[in-house]
Amino acid sequence: HGGHYSQVCRMRRLMVLVNPLSGKGQAMALYTGPIHRMLTEAAVPHTLITTDYQNHARELVRNADLSQWSAIVILSGDGLLFEVINGLMEREDWEEAIQTPLGILPGGSGNAVAASVHHYTEAGAVFGEDLLLSCGFVLCKGLVCPMDLLSVRLSSGPRLFSFLSLAWGFVADVDIESEKYRPVGAVRFLVGALVRLASLRSYQGRLSFLLAADESSSVTATTNPSSLPGSTFCSSREQHSLQRDPATRTDPKEHGPVDDLMTPLGEPVPTDWTVVEERDFVLVLAMCHSHLAEDLMVAPDARPDDGHIHLFYVTAGVSRPALLRLFLAMEKGTHLTGESPHLVYRRVRALRLEPVTRPGVITVDGEQVEYGPVQAQVHRGCARIISG
Ligand code: ADP
Ligand code: MG
Repeated sequence: HGGHYSQVCRMRRLMVLVNPLSGKGQAMALYTGPIHRMLTEAAVPHTLITTDYQNHARELVRNADLSQWSAIVILSGDGLLFEVINGLMEREDWEEAIQTPLGILPGGSGNAVAASVHHYTEAGAVFGEDLLLSCGFVLCKGLVCPMDLLSVRLSSGPRLFSFLSLAWGFVADVDIESEKYRPVGAVRFLVGALVRLASLRSYQGRLSFLLAADESSSVTATTNPSSLPGSTFCSSREQHSLQRDPATRTDPKEHGPVDDLMTPLGEPVPTDWTVVEERDFVLVLAMCHSHLAEDLMVAPDARPDDGHIHLFYVTAGVSRPALLRLFLAMEKGTHLTGESPHLVYRRVRALRLEPVTRPGVITVDGEQVEYGPVQAQVHRGCARIISG
């Protein structure tokens, strides 16, 4: 799985995608400054491509001749990486296409994956320009690691592939409301959270999940231990035909990995899933990486290919100061050692959320999606990321 992209394909070039409008609109300056210098010094051949509109990058990678490129690097926020991953998964040759190494350089206002990649190097936390340099160094080193993807299904529309987060309630509301604080950069999330705290509310709905194997021992009677889950590795086409009929593949033309852990949204969850008793939440947040933002280390133990969805939920009744303390503790990742009775953390492989409260906001990787029932399952090591 691993290896250096520069060793495997020395003759090919990096595609560096820049969204000139991301963050405070400074992404181009980050390229012409430190990044161009670093890549030149490390003798990493690359081609700069700026995006002209939303989904430009998605169209580009959907149609690109990928054999030309050693890796696709995103100098922007997480939104541009979302475009690239979904563009790759839309291709007929998705299985090969999604193996293209992906690199991330923080140039947006939401740089969660960049902050996570830095965290995986085990160096101490850095922000802003230092984070950019660290990620630039990781890129020049060029170590490629497998990365999990989430297959996300909503009640309508094609499924999405997520690499970072699925959020509902407080976090999703803040994510969308804080768009207007974009000029302050990466701290926009914290600013938004403080504003949202003033109008703190709860959200009703049902949450279900399939616990990860190493968590199953702590499960209650609602779980059937005889039905052990299968491998979630991106399966080959041959393996697909051996699996049970993929009930969640509603469109016969759909390609991509088969969602073998989930039943269709209109049907009950499988019997080996756990249904959360509480129906009243302040937030539900599923994470695939350690960081939700540069200063929010939600899942300190997460690794890009651990095969886990790190599921957090906060039940209603949490006080404003307690919730604020939780978010402040996330700067250091100490919120899990605190004893908040309202915070629950589980490692799962699939989950379903059925919101009752309407209207509301659900975000996938920070992008707002259709509001309503949503479910997701992990596909372990499906993509590849240039990481520490
Ligand atoms: P930020 O972290 O600042 O939000 P992102 O990379 O997430 O930066 O980009 C924000 C949004 O802009 C994403 O939804 C992305 O798809 C979109 N986008 C990308 N390139 C462009 C462009 N040239 N013009 C407008 N929107 C773009
Ligand atoms: Mg964004």
